[in-house]
Amino acid sequence: MGWLTSLGTLLLDLRAVFVAAWSWRAEDAAQRRTSWAYCPECRHDLNGDDKSFQGYDEAGLVVYECSRCTHVSRWDFDPPAPILVED
Ligand SMILES: [Zn+2]
Repeated sequence: MGWLTSLGTLLLDLRAVFVAAWSWRAEDAAQRRTSWAYCPECRHDLNGDDKSFQGYDEAGLVVYECSRCTHVSRWDFDPPAPILVED
């Protein structure tokens, strides 16, 4: 039954490769989507310029001050898409 064991190991290896490829794809998609954050006041693309980004607050949230209307908002960039935490 040695060949059967080898086949089982091979299938497990293939599965691991597929799982790794899948999570890499998901991560890649998440990184592309995190580049979109819009001002809740005027819909200005906060991530589209270099002026709105202010840095991180003590909770690790991303702080933006809109370069168009000066509205301050906080974002959590960890989930698959940015979440507006504080408006
Ligand atoms: Zn704005």
